[in-house]
Amino acid sequence: LTQAHLDAIETSNAALNAYVLPTPERALEMAKASDAKLGTGEGGALEGIPLGIKDLFCTRDVRTTACSHILDGFTPTYESTVTANLWAEGAVMLGKLNNDEFAMGSSNETSFYGDVVNPWRRDGSDAPLVPGGSSGGSSAAVAARLCLGATATDTGGSIRQPAAFTGTVGLKPTYGRCSRWGIVAFASSLDQAGPITRTVRDAAIMLGAWASHDPKDTTSADLPVPDFEAAVGQGVKGLTIGIPKEYRVEGMAPEIEALWQQGISWLKQAGAEIKEVSLPHTKYALPSYYIVAPAEASSNLARYDGVRYGLREKGSDVISMYENTREAGFGAEVKRRILIGTYVLSAGYYDAYYLKAQKVRTLIKRDFDQAFETVDAILTPTTPGPAFAAGEKSGDPLEMYLNDIFTVTVNMAGLPGMSVPAGLSSEGTPLGLQLIGRAFDEETLFRAGRVIE
Ligand code: GLN
Repeated sequence: LTQAHLDAIETSNAALNAYVLPTPERALEMAKASDAKLGTGEGGALEGIPLGIKDLFCTRDVRTTACSHILDGFTPTYESTVTANLWAEGAVMLGKLNNDEFAMGSSNETSFYGDVVNPWRRDGSDAPLVPGGSSGGSSAAVAARLCLGATATDTGGSIRQPAAFTGTVGLKPTYGRCSRWGIVAFASSLDQAGPITRTVRDAAIMLGAWASHDPKDTTSADLPVPDFEAAVGQGVKGLTIGIPKEYRVEGMAPEIEALWQQGISWLKQAGAEIKEVSLPHTKYALPSYYIVAPAEASSNLARYDGVRYGLREKGSDVISMYENTREAGFGAEVKRRILIGTYVLSAGYYDAYYLKAQKVRTLIKRDFDQAFETVDAILTPTTPGPAFAAGEKSGDPLEMYLNDIFTVTVNMAGLPGMSVPAGLSSEGTPLGLQLIGRAFDEETLFRAGRVIE
């Protein structure tokens, strides 16, 4: 199995650029260790299953750069908790996957290692499409069968949006379900690791294998990890699914509206009750996300100074060394976030922007709390449209940020969200529907997701 995937990487990766660093030797070594357990009754939940790892996860003795030039040559001496849990269950590492630099982006066009290409094409066209972002390497690799599943991270939609663009399943677990230890930080109060897989069942198995309480991450929850796989196939009879009217945004493409209706009728047919709900502060989610996320990013990225990690540029003194390193090491999108973040945190602007955004965040969370008093899960489209062409939005950051309109609310409220492939656009490319659940109730998402996929 591992060899077959390594062969597929060898054949297709040059065209897709999904892997920034395949690790064939390590993969074969791990696969042999799994083979040795065959028939012994030993072995974990993922024994011998070849996976791709987003380059945001620190992997011991394997280069980890978050696809930023500033982490050039950084080889961690430690393993992230999530990947350590995967290896403990017998999974095999095929290599490190491409992503937007420091996970900032929605199209995988900000990586220092170049753009990732979506394996899908519009009907009758050869023009490359983006695989979504920031976990574009993960989504492209799973869709192109270059791994059986991939790790990913989601701060504002980076698991769910790329999954929607590639016809794969993407789950952002509840904040605190997984340890963030050893994952390169973007915005610490929003970041969460989750799987991109081909099926809902695979996502349940992967999450079950890596979710854990970790004393090294004080925000990880000390809760038992349920048998997620058992939830898959339990159906939706007795569940009430909410449809938030505020997500019916102006100018929504008719095909997205139709997809949403299709999802509603599938759930109804399967025995769920459907109910309209209101999330009145939805329209403030995107602007407040783009204050909170850059604020935390500007603080997290202060550590890249040319001394402790990766790249170091020459300077006449220590200050100019810092400046030259950060000038050369960060790409344009990352610099934009650092500037916005520093601005909204500075004296005089903190109250007007950052504090205000945090208050809005509380209101968004309350909207969900209220909705979940009467419904068990919420169904929305994952994205406002299908995968767009490479280069189409990269010149206009605001246009790019609008992609996150249906996904950021979930991170702001710390809830679990899952994108499930639900149909094709008029262009013949994948579209996804998003399920949002109560905190620590991923099981309901697996139940409803299985009905839709
Ligand atoms: N596209 C969003 C951003 O650029 C979300 C990224 C993410 O979830 N990591 O901030």
